[in-house]
Amino acid sequence: MAVAAAAKIAEVRETTRVERIGAHSHIRGLGLDDSLEARHVSQGMVGQVSARRAVGIVLQMVRDGRIAGRAVLLAGQPGTGKTAIATALAAALGYDTPFTSMAGSEIYSLEMSKTEALTQAIRKSIGVRIKEESEIIEGEVVEVQIERPATGVGTKVGKLILKTTDMETVYDLGGKMIDSILKEKVQSGDVITIDKATGKITRLGRSFARARDYDATGQQTRFVQCPEGELQKRREVVHTVTLHEIDVINSRTHGFLALFSGDTGEIKPEVREQINGKVAEWREEGKAEIIPGVLFIDEVHMLDIECFSFLNRALENEMAPIVIMATNRGITKIRGTNYKSPHGIPLDLLDRTIIVPTTPYDEKELKEILSIRCEEEDCQMSDNALTVLTRISKETSLRYGMQLIMTSSLIARKRKAHEVDVEDIKRAYQLFFDEGRSVQFLKEYQQEFMFNEMEGEDKMDV
Ligand code: ATP
Repeated sequence: MAVAAAAKIAEVRETTRVERIGAHSHIRGLGLDDSLEARHVSQGMVGQVSARRAVGIVLQMVRDGRIAGRAVLLAGQPGTGKTAIATALAAALGYDTPFTSMAGSEIYSLEMSKTEALTQAIRKSIGVRIKEESEIIEGEVVEVQIERPATGVGTKVGKLILKTTDMETVYDLGGKMIDSILKEKVQSGDVITIDKATGKITRLGRSFARARDYDATGQQTRFVQCPEGELQKRREVVHTVTLHEIDVINSRTHGFLALFSGDTGEIKPEVREQINGKVAEWREEGKAEIIPGVLFIDEVHMLDIECFSFLNRALENEMAPIVIMATNRGITKIRGTNYKSPHGIPLDLLDRTIIVPTTPYDEKELKEILSIRCEEEDCQMSDNALTVLTRISKETSLRYGMQLIMTSSLIARKRKAHEVDVEDIKRAYQLFFDEGRSVQFLKEYQQEFMFNEMEGEDKMDV
């Protein structure tokens, strides 16, 4: 028994190993309780309690689906979990609420204009939930008759009596339905579904009530328990697609295959206008519902003044998503201008934005995050080593500390140890420089480097 269980666990591990471990793969949600309060450590998230709570309220706004065009800015020093929180929000949203993530620099592409790239990102973040009443009827076959033409050639005709919950209905059978009936070998007592749109008949099995006679013949049949009242007449099918997907499918120059390659190029404004009109029609008829999703723009200070003004206008649209931006910049130049502003974002956009600050972690929180990452990267680490790693992360950065997990784990493996110890961390620390030591090194040896341009300049201006 124990062996079997172990084999099972090994099997499960095998499949999870195939997945790559990403920077945020340990995050499974915002870690909030039912009243949207943040638990200190939950779903892979540690600390940053007030920011998580604030984003929890945004989550509620998105779930309600009634508020469009809000902007939220996550602002804080590097490595304080801004991207992590956005990733957590994505994980917490329902499967049919769109979430698009992009870095500000992604809009600079040769294939499309900046505003087209932003428009696509916005339309990828708006879902259209389309309701279709599929006329699928489920019932028990009372009788089926098919008449073949006497000559053996020509069209077959037939009748089917189907009992649903409330009545028996006689159907005249057309060619497609007859083909399905013959193929599925449908007979009295079978439970079937008929798709009225396509004429397709599917045999689900035998009615429970008649199961016994059938048994006696020794035939292999799937029995369907369908006491009266469970047979359904109609089903509603709901699909959720994004506005961008509808654009691409309807754009004759690209066709839907572009959805797989991602190579959609620019989409003509006429196509979008048509789609907007169509979607508005569907909404009026009650066939479709708009679901404003989330557009996350990381490193938002990389956008320039044109993009900011475009975004400002786009947020006013009734079909706008909730835009979440993140930046680690303080007061800096707005790209494309000589003006400085907080976070490099123009004041008119900032004015309609709610700002959620993220703050640096204390040592206990850093240790907790590093410990979660050790588990994620399948690395056993002694408590002393984890303490040293935490100290290093505090002095340098959380990201650098995280890098040392895998490197020190490889060093430990080389000496055939199963657990990373203080010595392995020290060795990794000596081998790989953090930013601070790298700058120190550059200062000491700058004369020996090619293209040394640091002299006279205070700082790199990005
Ligand atoms: P930057 O400004 O440099 O983009 P950031 O604020 O977006 O930084 P993240 O990339 O979110 O920082 O965080 C760095 C790493 O630490 C990531 O691997 C992230 O998953 C992890 N991390 C950050 N905060 C938390 C947290 N509160 N709980 C769990 N993991 C976290």
